[in-house]
Amino acid sequence: MKILIINCGSSSIKYKLFKVKKKHKEEVLDSGLVEHIGEKDSLIKDHYTGLKTILERIEEKVDAVGHRVVHGGEEFKEPVIINRRIIMAIKKYCRFAPLHNPANLAGILAIKKLLPRVKQVAVFDTAFHQSIPEYAYIYGLPYHYYKKYGIRRYGFHGTSHNYVTEEASRRLKRPLDKLRLITCHLGNGCSICAVKYGKSIDTSMGFTPLEGLIMGTRCGDIDPALVTYIMQQESLGTEEIEEILNKESGLKGISGISNDMRLLLNQTEKGNLRAKLAIEVFVYRIKKYISAYIGILGGVDAVVFTAGIGQNQPEIVNMVCADLFSYLKKKPKILVIPTNEELMICRQTYALLKGRGNV
Ligand code: ADP
Repeated sequence: MKILIINCGSSSIKYKLFKVKKKHKEEVLDSGLVEHIGEKDSLIKDHYTGLKTILERIEEKVDAVGHRVVHGGEEFKEPVIINRRIIMAIKKYCRFAPLHNPANLAGILAIKKLLPRVKQVAVFDTAFHQSIPEYAYIYGLPYHYYKKYGIRRYGFHGTSHNYVTEEASRRLKRPLDKLRLITCHLGNGCSICAVKYGKSIDTSMGFTPLEGLIMGTRCGDIDPALVTYIMQQESLGTEEIEEILNKESGLKGISGISNDMRLLLNQTEKGNLRAKLAIEVFVYRIKKYISAYIGILGGVDAVVFTAGIGQNQPEIVNMVCADLFSYLKKKPKILVIPTNEELMICRQTYALLKGRGNV
């Protein structure tokens, strides 16, 4: 069975084509990227044209398509086969993920036209975190905002946390229902997850991906009163303050140099104190979250590092882990596992279609 995995962003589409022989026996046949969608002077004017180009490029008969969809609200705890009702629901959650869900939806609608007979599956970034208990996802705000607007912690990077969780269990040769894990996805966006017996019980990103760790350009946790204070001091509107918190903060904001950890490590070696400080703040925040999650998990068997920084920068992993576990009787294993969200989406698409007798 050939499964095409699609990750539609607002101006790009990433794809990977898998041949699946049986469960966990996958081979990558092709992969690539279409960029500059909808940009001035671009030949790719929309997602439909982008996906048409991809289908022409791969020259293979596609049996199913799996889509990354960022937000599935509280409705989607599992992957689903896409039909009209699902399309309406994804549309509904565009208000929670205005930068992502519209692009994901555009990809689904384009495939519906291009490959009308092919089954499509949506795999949601939020789904893995739907096991988080109520006391961990409710904010200390008037409760009716939860009822009226759906304001709660959702969490993101779920497919990545899910993938490295399964991979950790495989590498440790221990079943998921015996493992307490802390998974750290450290890329440009960063999030951390407490996984108890295979289920997410807490995660650092919240209603949006802004909460939690210090990221490339996002601020992570701050005193919420700072938002209005800075707006008043600098006479800023809502769009401007959102831009600052999302695009001008984090590693970039503290260092004043870059959001790229490679550059910050390099500058630190050359004696740049702001680059050093940015790294120290980044590392300290991760340590705080890991320590809190050890507490709620009642111990930890392994801490997993993944994504750009987690996979490629052992200096950062070492700084995070130094002295962190000294008080524990049994030290956790430290694992570096490359994430593979496309493979996870492929596995979930295959499992769902097989379970429904579509394979
Ligand atoms: P995104 O969240 O955009 O997918 P990545 O997972 O690529 O981002 O992570 C970006 C971060 O990872 C940057 O801070 C960068 O310095 C670091 N990084 C990415 N690739 C490498 C690499 N090959 N070697 C060292 N650092 C890397």
